[in-house]
Amino acid sequence: MTAFFSIKRIAWTLATILFILPAPLAWAKTKPVMHKVKAGDSLWSIAGKYKVEVDTLRKLNKIKGNMVKPGAKLIVRPGSSKGKSTASATKHSSKSAKVSKTSGTQITKSQKSAGKISKNNKKAKKRFESVQHKVKRGDSLWSIARKYNTTVTNLRKINGKSVKSLHPGEVIVVKHVPSGDGPVRLEHGVQLPESGLGFVAPRRERVWGTKTTVTAIMEACAETAAEHPEARPTYIGDVSYQRGGYMPPHKSHRSGRDVDLSYYHNDPKSRHAFTNVSTSTLDTERSWTLIESFLETKDVKSMYIDYRLQKPLYEEALRRGIAQDVVDRLFEYPDGVGSGKEGQTIIRHVRGHDDHIHIRFYERPEDVPSS
Ligand SMILES: [Zn+2]
Repeated sequence: MTAFFSIKRIAWTLATILFILPAPLAWAKTKPVMHKVKAGDSLWSIAGKYKVEVDTLRKLNKIKGNMVKPGAKLIVRPGSSKGKSTASATKHSSKSAKVSKTSGTQITKSQKSAGKISKNNKKAKKRFESVQHKVKRGDSLWSIARKYNTTVTNLRKINGKSVKSLHPGEVIVVKHVPSGDGPVRLEHGVQLPESGLGFVAPRRERVWGTKTTVTAIMEACAETAAEHPEARPTYIGDVSYQRGGYMPPHKSHRSGRDVDLSYYHNDPKSRHAFTNVSTSTLDTERSWTLIESFLETKDVKSMYIDYRLQKPLYEEALRRGIAQDVVDRLFEYPDGVGSGKEGQTIIRHVRGHDDHIHIRFYERPEDVPSS
């Protein structure tokens, strides 16, 4: 009897150990994610299922309209080996350019053309984003144009289709707006609770976000609290107003897709509100858990972290076993301030982010309900 139970216990312990072994980070995977189109699938439903943007699917698969053929295989997410090669190519070319300067050798033809390509990429990456509309029964180009304060001509220009080809369920691009600027509004705002697992959000009128934003904040803070149950809750500062729009003193925070939140730190004098953090007062371990939890939601577009604080966080990420190439693609550090511009890294330096982290989230189809 006793022997039987001890064997059972050993098996149980083994199972537990296997279960709690840290799973490899989702964003560190190298295999591309594919989807075989089934009858009834739309770009919209596939994007929703995999939490990617419809535009991303279009670009990855070179699709122009909204139609997908059943049986076709779509790339949902490219493998990270692809991302790695482009990232390292850019880094490599800038490093070899430096070398050629100091050693006095001439820049080769291939290096020149590589420079041209990266310049063109930068131009193409000018930060505009598309506002989308899911067509409902009874919608016309005119009603959609009126709803979004644009014109039928513009809708035709962007989507290249006539009125007759509008089908309920289709997603059309309504307009392109510069991200972070202009009178961007929040249409279906969700209010963050006043407090929850791992966070407090006391400034009630300033914590409205998209469904994606609010869900990501709650998930990431809860995960951090689960890992560090003894820690103080993260202080959530500004997100957006209920209907979005200009929120002084920010340039962003207009569309429910930005949040300011506190670092974990070892300054005993401060409570909750943002405190200037230095490399010696930063609680590197807990702060990294928080950052990693946000990254795992896969909804983070960018994160502003003071460059000086990037170094200890970069080292912490490596210490926790995240692959060097993944960490290098995440951080602007150690390549210098500005190397993470143009969306090359998620984590980058923007002045004023030594007392809080600013996170921008992607907009997802479910943030704009069609009803
Ligand atoms: Zn901010």
